[in-house]
Amino acid sequence: MASELEPEVQAIDRSLLECSAEEIAGKWLQATDLTREVYQHLAHYVPQIYCRGPNPFPQKEDMLAQHVLLGPMEWYLCGEDPTFGFPKLEQANKPSHLCGRVFKVGEPTYSCRDCAVDPTCVLCMECFLGSIHRDHRYRMTTSGGGGFCDCGDTEAWKEGPYCQKHDLNTSETEEEEDPLVHLSEDVIARTYNIFAIMFRYAVEILTWEKENELPAELELEEQSDTYYCMLFNDEVHTYEQVIYTLQKAVNCTQKEAIGFATTVDRDGRRSVRYGDFQYCEQAKSVIVRNTSRQTKPLKVQVMHSSIVAHQNFGLKLLSWLGNVIGYSDGLRRILCQVGLQEGPDGESSSLVDRLMLSDSKLWKGARSVYHQLFMSSLLMDLKYKKLFAIRFAKNYQQLQKDFMEDDHERAVSVTALSVQFFTAPTLARMLITEENLMTTIIKTFMDHLRHRDSQGRFQFERYTALQAFKFRRVQSLILDLKYVLISKPTEWSDELRQKFLEGFDAFLELLKCMQGMDPITRQVGQHIEMEPEWEAAFTLQMKLTHVISMMQDWCALDEKVLIEAYKKCLAVLMQCHGGFTDGEQPITLSICGHSVETIRYCVSQEKVSIHLPVSRLLAGLHVLLSKSEVAYKFPELLPLSELSPPMLIEHPLRCLVLCAQVHAGMWRRNGFSLVNQIYYYHNVKCRREMFDKDIIMLQTGVSMMDPNHFLMIMLSRFELYQIFSTPDYGKRFSSEITHKDVVQQNNTLIEEMLYLIIMLVGERFSPGVGQVDATDEIKREIIHQLSIKPMAHSELVKSLPEDENKETGMEGVIEAVAHFKKPGLTGRGMYELKPECAKEFNLYFYHFSRAEQSKAEEAQRKLKRQNREDTALPPPVLPPFCPLFASLVNILQSDVLLCIMRTILQWAVEHNGYAWSESMLQRVLHLIGMALQEEKQHLENAMEEHVVTFTFTQKISKPGEAPNNSPSILAMLETLQNAPYLEVHKDMIRWILKTFNAIKKIRESSSTSPVAETEGTIMEESSRDKDKAERKRKAEIARLRREKIMAQMSEMQRHFIDENKELFQQTLELDASSSAVLDNGPVVSDKTLIALGPAKTQISEQRQFVTCILCQEEQEVKVEDSAMVLAAFVQRSTVLSKNRNKFIQDPEKYDPLFMHPDLSCGTHTGSCGHVMHAHCWQRYFDSVQAKEQRRQQRLRLHTSYDVENGEFLCPLCECLSNTVIPLLLPPRNIFSRLNFSDQPNLTQWIRTVSQQIKALQALRKEGSASDTASSKHVENVNELQLPEGFRPDFQPKNPYSESIKEMLTTFGTATYKVGLKVHPNEEDPRVPIMCWGSCAYTIQSLERILSDEDKPLFGPLPCRLDDCLRSLTRFAAAHWTVVSLSVVQGHFGRLFASLVPNDSHEDLPCILDIDMFHLLVSLVLAFPTLQCQDFSGISLGTGDLHIFHLVTMAHIVQILLTSCTEENGMDQENPTGEEELAVLALYKTVRQYTGSALRGTPSGWHLWRTVKAGVMPFLKCSALFFHYLNGVPSPPDFQASGTNNFEHLCNYLSLPNNLICLFQENSEIMNSLIESWCRNNEVRRYLEGERDAISYPRESNKLIDLPEDYSSLINQASNFSCPKSGGDKSRAPTLCLVCGTLLCSQSYCCQTELEGEDVGACTAHTYSCGSGAGIFLRVRECQVLFLAGKTKGCFYSPPYLDDYGETDQGLRRGNPLRLCRERFKKIQKLWHQHSVTEEIGHAQEANQTLVGIDWQHL
Ligand SMILES: [Zn+2]
Ligand SMILES: [Zn+2]
Ligand SMILES: [Zn+2]
Ligand SMILES: [Zn+2]
Ligand SMILES: [Zn+2]
Ligand SMILES: [Zn+2]
Ligand SMILES: [Zn+2]
Repeated sequence: MASELEPEVQAIDRSLLECSAEEIAGKWLQATDLTREVYQHLAHYVPQIYCRGPNPFPQKEDMLAQHVLLGPMEWYLCGEDPTFGFPKLEQANKPSHLCGRVFKVGEPTYSCRDCAVDPTCVLCMECFLGSIHRDHRYRMTTSGGGGFCDCGDTEAWKEGPYCQKHDLNTSETEEEEDPLVHLSEDVIARTYNIFAIMFRYAVEILTWEKENELPAELELEEQSDTYYCMLFNDEVHTYEQVIYTLQKAVNCTQKEAIGFATTVDRDGRRSVRYGDFQYCEQAKSVIVRNTSRQTKPLKVQVMHSSIVAHQNFGLKLLSWLGNVIGYSDGLRRILCQVGLQEGPDGESSSLVDRLMLSDSKLWKGARSVYHQLFMSSLLMDLKYKKLFAIRFAKNYQQLQKDFMEDDHERAVSVTALSVQFFTAPTLARMLITEENLMTTIIKTFMDHLRHRDSQGRFQFERYTALQAFKFRRVQSLILDLKYVLISKPTEWSDELRQKFLEGFDAFLELLKCMQGMDPITRQVGQHIEMEPEWEAAFTLQMKLTHVISMMQDWCALDEKVLIEAYKKCLAVLMQCHGGFTDGEQPITLSICGHSVETIRYCVSQEKVSIHLPVSRLLAGLHVLLSKSEVAYKFPELLPLSELSPPMLIEHPLRCLVLCAQVHAGMWRRNGFSLVNQIYYYHNVKCRREMFDKDIIMLQTGVSMMDPNHFLMIMLSRFELYQIFSTPDYGKRFSSEITHKDVVQQNNTLIEEMLYLIIMLVGERFSPGVGQVDATDEIKREIIHQLSIKPMAHSELVKSLPEDENKETGMEGVIEAVAHFKKPGLTGRGMYELKPECAKEFNLYFYHFSRAEQSKAEEAQRKLKRQNREDTALPPPVLPPFCPLFASLVNILQSDVLLCIMRTILQWAVEHNGYAWSESMLQRVLHLIGMALQEEKQHLENAMEEHVVTFTFTQKISKPGEAPNNSPSILAMLETLQNAPYLEVHKDMIRWILKTFNAIKKIRESSSTSPVAETEGTIMEESSRDKDKAERKRKAEIARLRREKIMAQMSEMQRHFIDENKELFQQTLELDASSSAVLDNGPVVSDKTLIALGPAKTQISEQRQFVTCILCQEEQEVKVEDSAMVLAAFVQRSTVLSKNRNKFIQDPEKYDPLFMHPDLSCGTHTGSCGHVMHAHCWQRYFDSVQAKEQRRQQRLRLHTSYDVENGEFLCPLCECLSNTVIPLLLPPRNIFSRLNFSDQPNLTQWIRTVSQQIKALQALRKEGSASDTASSKHVENVNELQLPEGFRPDFQPKNPYSESIKEMLTTFGTATYKVGLKVHPNEEDPRVPIMCWGSCAYTIQSLERILSDEDKPLFGPLPCRLDDCLRSLTRFAAAHWTVVSLSVVQGHFGRLFASLVPNDSHEDLPCILDIDMFHLLVSLVLAFPTLQCQDFSGISLGTGDLHIFHLVTMAHIVQILLTSCTEENGMDQENPTGEEELAVLALYKTVRQYTGSALRGTPSGWHLWRTVKAGVMPFLKCSALFFHYLNGVPSPPDFQASGTNNFEHLCNYLSLPNNLICLFQENSEIMNSLIESWCRNNEVRRYLEGERDAISYPRESNKLIDLPEDYSSLINQASNFSCPKSGGDKSRAPTLCLVCGTLLCSQSYCCQTELEGEDVGACTAHTYSCGSGAGIFLRVRECQVLFLAGKTKGCFYSPPYLDDYGETDQGLRRGNPLRLCRERFKKIQKLWHQHSVTEEIGHAQEANQTLVGIDWQHL
């Protein structure tokens, strides 16, 4: 179809291109009916440009549209060529001071916590950096898209509203200058004309609802039969459903379907089929049929192509308008005017209204385009912003209704614009007064919550899913209300008062519907069948919390408003509970001669509700009356006399009793929903407007009552009245053993009741209740949090209530009460309570949970013990109450309370049964303490002659009255002091008695009453007691210590792995001094230790004993015994390579014999160093495998390790492993023979070896040519000219036991399998090569780490590393014994030929392309296969030495060729040193052989320095290698840092200090070798600049540089768009920390196929960048991600910290984050050490949820 259309389309294009914008504009200027003219133009051209086929061509369409459609409009508007016209307009423009930058998704935004009027005021990064706020306390977030920069909005900022850029000449502009003055009349008129037509056109076509018919003005005569099947977005169907359906319906591939689905999700619609009506209709019916089963079907329309064309152009037009008004504020104003002009249908018919009102019908893409236009026009023009706000407010109800019906997120709804008006203070106030906005919002909200019970209260019980969904949406209205209230008025007009109070009325109506909702009744007998719904009600409460607080804040600002609000609130409360005594028989209570009437009500039997917002609001207002002193200034205006204290306290009291009963276990049968409600009631998110206010309400009520009356009512509500009103009730009670549960219950209830009394008297830290201010309140909260334990900043913030600005007020006071301790390399910064604040600690602080209370008690007692103080925790001294609440203290000395105290003390003295509890006593003691503190305060603050009416001390000295005549409280305390069963409380009792005496003294000094006799005895007793107490306390301390140790032990056993993990991390640190290398050999006193060659230092090998971690048996490592193995992990690595993208094309054919010097495709081996018997390991592994198979059948989950790939966890430390290395004795000793002849020099040796190789090659040729009987074979051998003493038929005997041989094969095969990623094949000739390679690579990586960290070469290494390298080297050296001799000999031949040319090997790499250390290791380890057949007497050591010298020389030449070119002839002075002369000579030789292609002659000094530096890493690696191979201890000089001494190294390696001497000594053969190396074609190409080569020393790899400030990373990521979906913002931009690539992670668009599976961008990247392992930073989440393979991964804490030393994973707190270099280095170290995989393994073992994450799709 497309091909048929092609020529036609082209023809059209040509005719279109011939259009002239100027001519058309000219025609329009002449037109009498411009609208008709323009519409005709559009009707004709739009369908020719847009929608010409199944797929959009956006570039072409844009180009043509600009030319044919928009061009003429621009000409018309400017009246000249727009390329001149627009710049002119721009010049004449006076730019706005508003920034108005619209945020992209993920862009960083900043809010100043000091200056922003509310948290919605934000700056873009550019403005922020140019503002004063960058030095303030700021918060950083990422934008969810939408919203714009508030820079320049004077109302948004208390200070510094302009950044440098927008600060332009603010002084000279007048506020309301009309921007039109800068435009000419003509331009204004033309702009007006064209804007009016175009805007109307766009609105008309976008809101057009017919599918098959255009507006009459746009209808063409002939209509083609071309349609689109248009699929729309909804939030109901998943990606998978849509993709699946599309594949079926329109017959497309999965890729295409994904493409469609992605576009639908992004733009809101996409045509999925193009063709005639029938064809499209058919697809539509399939889609509808397929998606209608469970939910409503996907929305699909078959639309005529010309409609789609016009709509597309309509969108284009809106963007165009947005651009054009950017040239001039005048144009912007004209557009605003056009948009808000009322249409012919009157009210709400302006274009802006029409767009808003059809918002929910538009698709996502269209919405965002017009929202953007609104933001850049209406919201940027202060005059029209106001008018727009009014339109918005007028349509508010309808818009919300539409939104409720719609299913799209709020972010793409026009209702989300509310934040733009409602948070602007003047606009908000204008809307409140003129549009009654508050009332409108609340009423709209109420309209959407229709479910009420018979009393008119909300009912959420039987909420369906759909209702729940709507309930969620309706909550955005609360957000709007919050916006309106967020900035508080500084001045009140009568109008504002009136409208606010009207709104307050509406709000009270809302609260009234909540008062008493979700009532509950205690379930007795049976457990409830279904948990009732409770979350909806609590969600509502939680969302309203800030609104309720803000309502009170508003009221507090104006006395008149406060008084009115108080009256209204009281009236509503009366309506709710006015008749609460109706129909009830009042009962009379009496204790101690006091009596009171109350109703009969039992919480445990009747309905009770936790929701009492009206009472709580009244409590809040009452406190304000007290705080603002309105209560004293205008008492006549207040309805105080109407207050009925019993009514006020009734419901809050019930609620608190409910909590107590739940705690006492009386409501167990009501299930978890009740427990949850109680939890939230006290939770920091709700308590401010729930629990706290209930306490205040009780305080309010009680302050107006006789405390005795209150206490009796309280006893009755707690259902404890009987116990305390009946004398001897307690005694009788205790004897009734049958009701043990009831007794326990009552005990708890008594405790709770005492706690409540403590709170009512003690909680005076709300301003208005006590004489405190807000900072005192917050200080007290912090002190009590820190009394539990030191806390990090974020922990502390979480425990404190946030206000509507998300502030806790903590920063202002924290310094006063706490010290900050900085974090180390792990962990976070901590706040610790200042010691002097400990005295303010209140054990019964009302915000403690029970667990917190006991933790705090323990911590505080411990602290006191440490300070050698007594452990009493007396109540703190409290601030005085405000006058309105002052009478509350009288509770403490009321008769009923004294009676209660006396009763409980009596029980304690009698100490009978379980009818009392220690907690009860403890609370009574606390109450006595409070009373004493109070009396002391009163006395100390009392004026001269003033009578102190608080006489607690007198009251407790009096004995009880008849009939029971109990002793006085004081006497009972004295008795209890000696009670052995009250050891813990002794200190407190002693404190009470001491304070009592102190008060007595004060009283005596002010009066003349005689000293009470009691004092003497008390003092005596207490001193007598002291010794005993001291002894006891010591015993107690000892016991506690013992217990603690026991607890630690069991803790350790339980968290064995966690502990170990920590240990292993420690051992990972290279500076751990757990084991020095010297440990494994006898110290040789001789200073000249030599590691290799004939002169090698002889050492007697010590016997080595190891213990198997599985069977715990000890065994000696022996050649002939069964094998001992180390758990090991082999992995591919790119850590040393700068050429990471190189990967093995065809692993089956790849030849790994020569390692390229870029060190790509390395194989690393690591080990945790734990030893097992081979057979023990085998048994363990088999069982793991079997278990895994069973498990997989059961629950198809991943484990942290992949058993199928041979992975297992070390049985001791759970370190991830995939094979084992056998432990061996130094293998060289086994094979070395006595040296009985003179050893050849290098030249001779090379000749001999060359001959031997030649002989072997000839033999092999023979062998393959005539593959016949062995006898003939032997003959042939004899015919050959064999070098002297060479016996190629000799087969050495394998000295190893079967078990060791098996393990040699096992590890070799594993290395081969992992390194090449092939199927295991132990016969493959490449197996030994991979073993040597892994040995070389692992040594190189260690050397690199040591050098990077400036550590000595043979400094102390952790055991595990030392063991691993030794085993690995010895293994590699022994491996040839289990491989065919001829295979290894063949390898040796080729390796050897790379340095010593040989006719039969021609395709060998040139020396520039060989890593010399790998070559050295391979040559040395392959050499025994040759040497074992050589009986001429040349020793293995000689061979090692010559190989080493030869390779070293090759490396030096390599360095001269590649690394000496830079500094040319800097200092041509005569070289002085011997080395310099030598190296200069060598350089000249090399230069000569390269045909002078090697440039210039650098100075000898420079050359020598370069050679030394270049060869150093090689020498160090070699030293490590020979050390582990031959077991020669390292000279002590290497063991200290800073002494990586070149001379020592040379001595140890048997090299001359002047390396160049090697060449001179062997010049005979070396000249020809150098020549052969230099004459190579590749060398020539390199020297002529045609190719690159690695230079030496190779630079270390580092992780990328990260910016200091995290927000610049966010910014970078927000500019990053998905590379696959054409400019779309990536949702999870993720940075590879190894190479710096940004990836579009966790998204369909960037999934690729890897080994037949779909994987996410990160997983795919690990395969190219890190051979399977990767380190990433998820930028939006601020989280480091480790990945390994497809199924393994973990998160790691990011290297960014805030000022409080904490990371912010998930960027939830938004504190500014700065790079912590130490932590970043730690991550880099993990990478260098190849520990990423291990880290993942440990993380996954510790946290099983990590295993379930779908890592492969990240
Ligand atoms: Zn800005
Ligand atoms: Zn700015
Ligand atoms: Zn600021
Ligand atoms: Zn064992
Ligand atoms: Zn282990
Ligand atoms: Zn993508
Ligand atoms: Zn990378």
